[in-house]
Amino acid sequence: MATSLDLEGDVVDLLRRLVDVESVSGDEQQITDLVEQALRPYRHLQVSRQGNVLVARTELGRAERVVVAGHLDTVPIADNVPSRTTQEDGRTLVWGRGACDMKGGVAASLAAAAVLTAPRRDVTWIFYDNEEVEEQRNGLKRLAATHPQHLEAVFAVLCEPSNARIEGGCQGTMRVLVELTGVAAHSARSWKGHNAIHDAGAVLQALADHQPQQVVVDGLTYREGLNAVRVSGGIAGNVIPDRCEIEVNYRFAPDKSPEQAEAYVRSVLPGVPLRVTDVATGARPGLDQPAAAEFLAAVGGEPSAKFGWTDVARFSARGVPAVNFGPGDPSKAHADDEFCPGEEVVSCRDALVRWLS
Ligand SMILES: [Zn+2]
Repeated sequence: MATSLDLEGDVVDLLRRLVDVESVSGDEQQITDLVEQALRPYRHLQVSRQGNVLVARTELGRAERVVVAGHLDTVPIADNVPSRTTQEDGRTLVWGRGACDMKGGVAASLAAAAVLTAPRRDVTWIFYDNEEVEEQRNGLKRLAATHPQHLEAVFAVLCEPSNARIEGGCQGTMRVLVELTGVAAHSARSWKGHNAIHDAGAVLQALADHQPQQVVVDGLTYREGLNAVRVSGGIAGNVIPDRCEIEVNYRFAPDKSPEQAEAYVRSVLPGVPLRVTDVATGARPGLDQPAAAEFLAAVGGEPSAKFGWTDVARFSARGVPAVNFGPGDPSKAHADDEFCPGEEVVSCRDALVRWLS
């Protein structure tokens, strides 16, 4: 039952409409159609579509351009669609899949896009698909490859849930495989072998003893983490194991390159045989840019560091500083009891409008 979206009516109703249209990753056609229909009538927006990625641009010839982006997909439904609302302590809470991650942010940015007919900076509004699945399918990644001009800006805001506060940048993440080798033997004659699992002890102890760094980048404090996340080894109850693998995950501050991150892991585990299996660079918050400083002023409050990796890094990788800013508690993202406070949707819309008016 697709009904049209009213971008200039009650923004909480708009959020409920968006939640009521199921849009699990890979199934975003209907919601993208609705958002496209809602945006097309606005003469101040040039709307284009590639698959289920929508781009709406103002073309006012302003000296600077900013991007505001959000994904339209959700993780699978958990008996939490359609939406419902409750009143708690004078607040309206909207419940349902995607309310928090991140249709609240999408509602706020759609409402802002509709009323900002002459923003002070040109704006590229991006709504995309397949954020919640493997990154080869990510709509923003695809857009960056096929239409990179749409990501060009001096600053980007990604409307991921952040309790309506600014979370700057994001940490990088690296997976490292420690590969310990020994000599297999029958456990009845263990002195003829070398036990690779026993060698894991020193590696695990070094990781347990390690004090993670706290790194200040552009005024925000990033708290790193270096942890064993998986251990495997051993083939039978009577065999001295000749192999043991430890997977290590390093969450690193966005001032480190992948090479520096690898060097850091090697410095904690000197002489240990390891190789990097996966790495994603973090994103600097870039809060010293004028567009970012004005955004901070419009939102108010103190920005904090983002722990975790988000699509802000896709902007950062192109030299565009980016922050997360959206309604909803990120710890409720993907939860069965996902919800978003209606007041935060309103305050995020109002902050975007204040910033760009
Ligand atoms: Zn999200």
